[in-house]
Amino acid sequence: MTNKLYLSVVIPVYNEKDSIRLLYEKLKSSLSNFKDYEIIFIDDGSKDNSFEVIKQIAINDKRVKAIQLKKNFGQTIAISAGFDHAGGKVIVTMDADLQNDPEDIPKLITKLEEGYDVVSGWRKTRKDPLSKRMPSRVANKIISLVTGIKLHDFGCTLKAYRSEIIKNLKLYGEMHRFLPAYAQWAGAKIAEVEVKHHPRSYGQTKYGLARTPSVIIDLITTKFLIAFSTKPSHIFGALGLILILTAMLLSLFITIRKFCFGGEWVSPLIFIITICFITGIQFILMGLLGEISIRTYHESQNKSPYLISQFINKD
Ligand code: UDP
Ligand code: MG
Repeated sequence: MTNKLYLSVVIPVYNEKDSIRLLYEKLKSSLSNFKDYEIIFIDDGSKDNSFEVIKQIAINDKRVKAIQLKKNFGQTIAISAGFDHAGGKVIVTMDADLQNDPEDIPKLITKLEEGYDVVSGWRKTRKDPLSKRMPSRVANKIISLVTGIKLHDFGCTLKAYRSEIIKNLKLYGEMHRFLPAYAQWAGAKIAEVEVKHHPRSYGQTKYGLARTPSVIIDLITTKFLIAFSTKPSHIFGALGLILILTAMLLSLFITIRKFCFGGEWVSPLIFIITICFITGIQFILMGLLGEISIRTYHESQNKSPYLISQFINKD
């Protein structure tokens, strides 16, 4: 897809029939200063008539794209479907429930144009129940600590990206919240701006505490991918070598004990040596398998592990 367009706004929708039209109206007035933009609504298998509403809007406004997914795939996949069909140089994501405010979009873009690749919204005064704000606070602290990225609010969907960042990433699980982490890992410059947040006036939240385990697992995956995905044999290899070295030192110890002090060959230590040795070898082999899969990943999908900031005389 060619990047002729300046801005694409990507909005995942799941059972939000009551807010879509108002959101569209607000978007139109907030984006009136942009010459060219598109709004992409991705209906994530809604069971109400959200798609009918979106379709009507799209029929009357060519700047609106309406995508309907076959079933409910979840917010992350819905967002990535939007990314796949976004033609803008700048891509903004936001929720469909009017909790994010379209008026903040120009602010995010101004920041982006200051020279950033990702600008993330920070819902400083968040209008959600305490039962949601508390776990979210803890989660944000942990994610920030683990990924080393200084953002206050990873969960805020309202974010702006340069399209090259997005086009190089594939989203899985609950990963949309970790996009800034992946982007930074690839070399992107990240900023945060405060955005407004409104209580949900229409429809219902799709999330409760039940999503915590998947967020934790995704965080582990993210950390692992970021830290080791270009060099899996280094981490597994280092662990493997430490274990094999431990096995060798312990073997030396029982050999000396046997010959110098008349000790026994067979003692509980033998088990430890065996386990260290076997798992050590396994770790090294896992590292090698990791190397193979990482090469397949980057080569078969034409994915590049880096971003280029400037390229003089490209063709
Ligand atoms: N959403 C979606 N698919 C889902 C769940 C949610 O596309 O399976 C959309 C939803 O319509 C909304 C956004 O993702 O636009 C965020 O959902 P929600 O507002 O329920 O999350 P909360 O703000 O309560 O964290
Ligand atoms: Mg919401």
